[in-house]
Parts: sequence; structure tokens; C-alpha cells
Amino acid sequence: MDLAILGSGAAFSATGFNAGYLVDAGLLLDCGAPVTGLLPKMGRSVADLETLVISHLHGDHVLNLPILIATRVVQYPNLPRLRLIGPRGTQEHVADLGRLTFGPEFWDDLVAANGPLIEEWEDGRSSKLGGYQLTAYEVVHSERLHCLAFSVEAQGVSLGYSGDTAYCDGIRRLARSVQYLLCECTGWSAPAPIHLWRDEVEELMREAPSTRFILTHLGERRPVPGALLASDGLRLTLRPGARD
Ligand SMILES: [Zn+2]
Repeated sequence: MDLAILGSGAAFSATGFNAGYLVDAGLLLDCGAPVTGLLPKMGRSVADLETLVISHLHGDHVLNLPILIATRVVQYPNLPRLRLIGPRGTQEHVADLGRLTFGPEFWDDLVAANGPLIEEWEDGRSSKLGGYQLTAYEVVHSERLHCLAFSVEAQGVSLGYSGDTAYCDGIRRLARSVQYLLCECTGWSAPAPIHLWRDEVEELMREAPSTRFILTHLGERRPVPGALLASDGLRLTLRPGARD
């Protein structure tokens, strides 16, 4: 499984673009990064995308969705519809974002022509999509928003993605369930409200000693011993059971 980091920065930091992670060519996790500009730099195309997974509806994870969806429909009108998996509220939020971005007439016509098929998932739901077994884990990040983390499994490799989360049961379950965890680490020198910070990430690492941690959503670019630090443009090949 190939993992490309499109955006490794926390919402308001200068450490990198906002969230976006490409798995192989067809699966995108979150869309805060300027994906349409970044994919060609990696030899990829929006035409390759089959499945989008959205962890939650904060802007640093979704604001580039309208551009991505519209680009794919306009440039490749005959492709199968994208599958878009997200938390509760995704359908309405994507419609609101798209209409704000392009105006309701253009957006509604575009979606009717070949817009994404949107599914709102709950904790524990698991389905095979585009060759990946996707499973949702509810996490605690916002009192008003339903927030999910996910695991992605294919060809003997399992990758978790924390989305944004406080230290909670959902992220602890996910950390123990996967070989690799793309894990947010917003705070390094002090606790970060509604997010994970270094001490909590280190606690998760102790609880899941066989899981390899890849830290992202970075508020500061500082190392955590034993974990890999994401950076924009980083590409990793994940192998079954690998520890290095
Ligand atoms: Zn975020």
C-alpha cells in the first residue's frame, strides 16, 4: 500500500498544507489540501480517484472538496461517480460548500450530471470499497460535529487514520487494530484542546506497541521518539507487519 502525504499541517499552523492523504491512486483521506494541484506533482490524477473518505466537517479537512469534485466532473464527465464516505451531516455540508463555492445553479447541475455518491457512516460500519476494507471509528473532537476515524485494509496491510480527535476510546481502539496509524499530533509542548498532543500520542504508542505511528496534523514540527513525522510530499510504502 502506498501512502502519499498531501498535507501534514494542523488547521492554523504553518507546518504544511491542511489534511489530505492519498492511498495508492484511488483513495483519498480528507480534502483540506489543494488536492487538484498536488496530485499531478505525484504523477497522479483526479481521474484515478474512486473513493473519498472524510473524517469530519471542519474546514481544514473539507474546504477543497468543491474544487476536487467539480474538477473531476468537468474534466472527466464519463467516469463512474466518486464514492464519498463521511460522518453524519456530510450530504448537507457538501451541498452547502459547493453552492457557496460555485453558486447553486452551477453546483446543482454539476452534481446532477455526475456528482459523488455520498454515504454517512456510523461507528463500527465496515464495507469493501474500491478494493479497500474501510471501517469507521467514532472519535471525540467536537460537541456539535460527528467525527470519525477510519481503518483501511488491503493486501495484508492495515492503515488507521485518526482524523482529529481527543484522547478517547475510539482512537485507542483504532490504534490497537492496525499496523500503521496516521495519527494527529497537534500539540507538542502543551496539551491541545479537542486534539492529541505529544504526551497522549506517546501513551497511545505504549498501548499499541506493535503499531507504527506516522504523526501528522502537526502544530509544530518536532520529533517524537519512535514515531515517523509526516511532511508534505512524503511518500511511504506500507508493507504487512513492517516495523521499519
Ligand atoms: Zn483538523
